[in-house]
Amino acid sequence: MLRSALAVAVVAGLLAGCARQEERVTQRPGSAAQASVQSAETRICLADLAQTGSTFRLLPDRDFGAGCEQRGVVQLDGVAGDAARIALTNLGPVTCPLADKAIGWARFGVDRAARQILGNGLAQIETFGSYSCRNVAGSSRRSAHSRANAIDVAAFVLTDGRRISVKDDWHEGSSEERRFLRIVHDSACKRFGTVLGPEYNAAHRDHLHLEMSGNAFCR
Ligand SMILES: [Zn+2]
Repeated sequence: MLRSALAVAVVAGLLAGCARQEERVTQRPGSAAQASVQSAETRICLADLAQTGSTFRLLPDRDFGAGCEQRGVVQLDGVAGDAARIALTNLGPVTCPLADKAIGWARFGVDRAARQILGNGLAQIETFGSYSCRNVAGSSRRSAHSRANAIDVAAFVLTDGRRISVKDDWHEGSSEERRFLRIVHDSACKRFGTVLGPEYNAAHRDHLHLEMSGNAFCR
């Protein structure tokens, strides 16, 4: 009872924060209609995030031009796992829907796989970041990173301090570490639109690229 009342209070607080955000953003000339539509989506998404018990805050919209922007983005610092908080390191702004997917993956995909396969829960996910104004390597197309809509995951740290990285352990790890990495890769494929790892190309030998867009493209 107390817990659900607390959740409602948190959501109400977020919505109030979101409304202030909308007010401020819509004062910018020419962006009113777009900002208010997006804020309605963001508002629903933020309410969903609050339900997960994660630690995050809404960031202001920013347009960098040349197809690079941050809209409806949050700073996600931690995820509530089954037993303990899971920290996320080096992660910049991510779109709210991407944060929502990442939270589900961290808890139900990675934390539980770590306990089942490696005998310890997940303490931390190390990332190479999220937002970056750049093209897809070798193309003239903007990367999902240029809209804060992709995360590059480099490594996982367990509650006993053991660290499993994509770079060192995808090919060279123990059989259980390799199995763990493939299982978290596969569970990412069930949640994100595009997942690229070491089997895709040399550019992804040291991380998993998790992207909202795409239709179950999993390599
Ligand atoms: Zn990437």
